Amino acid sequence: MQCDRCQSMIEPGEEKSLNARVPCEEKSRMIQLTNPMEIFKLLDRSNCRKCHELTCLAFAAAVFKGQRQLMECPHLESQDLESHAGKSEGRVTNEQEMEFMIGELKNRLASVDLRAAAPKLGGSFSESKLTIKILGKNFSVDSKGGITTDIHIHPWVMIPVLNHIIQSKGTPVSGEWVPLRELKNGKTWYRLFEQRCEKPLKWVADMHTDLFEDILRVFNGKPVEKHYGSDFSLLLRPLPKVPILICYSKAEDGLESNLNVFFDSTAEDHLTIESIFYLGVGLAGMFKKIALRHSFQ
Ligand code: SF4
Repeated sequence: MQCDRCQSMIEPGEEKSLNARVPCEEKSRMIQLTNPMEIFKLLDRSNCRKCHELTCLAFAAAVFKGQRQLMECPHLESQDLESHAGKSEGRVTNEQEMEFMIGELKNRLASVDLRAAAPKLGGSFSESKLTIKILGKNFSVDSKGGITTDIHIHPWVMIPVLNHIIQSKGTPVSGEWVPLRELKNGKTWYRLFEQRCEKPLKWVADMHTDLFEDILRVFNGKPVEKHYGSDFSLLLRPLPKVPILICYSKAEDGLESNLNVFFDSTAEDHLTIESIFYLGVGLAGMFKKIALRHSFQ
């Protein structure tokens, strides 16, 4: 069988494959869409992961950035691809990507029964608002995506919070602490997590040890029995059912300092591994910002 545009050959049995659906270069160009939301709207939104991205949102953002091609989603029909054929703008900043994701998550709140979600999330429901504690402070949201909160939340934390409200299974916390790499899907994220979360947190703890402890306490961190011989271990609750344990050991006798972050073994019942990663990185970013602000005062 031959493509009627570029005359390239389509192998027998390949008629239903990606190549056959979009056989020629002309059809496979990037899409002409001006923001990731438009791309997302074209998708199946099932988060089936057949494109090897964790979510349809992540796939839409990657397409917009020019890192992936729309035709890589096997659920799209060739007419969808053809009607959007052209050249992508392919430029999006991290901030735009975050904004897009937050906007989309707020839209999805419309289909969540917030009253029913409240007990599952360890929160409360009143005056059409679900309220949960984020780092010990109130965070309220309504089904139109309106948010009121006592703290300024980093967008990297806001995304996991909204995801949590939308998709948590409500499983009780197990009390068993594990590093990210021991969560079911944690292996592929662990190295990046070390770089983007544990390393910046260790920098804050090394450079501003007392301040670091103070910051954790301001965000309602509770000291717990010292784990693995650490100098201090603090329990934070960025989400009521997704606690985080931060263990820090100071440098001593020629040994480097050490900082490890642990999650409850049920963390993936409440958040995708991608959101767990965002949560850790967001917290590290928030604490680093606070530490830098203090060091210049
Ligand atoms: S394959 Fe398509 S529907 Fe499935 S997660 Fe990827 S973008 Fe979403």
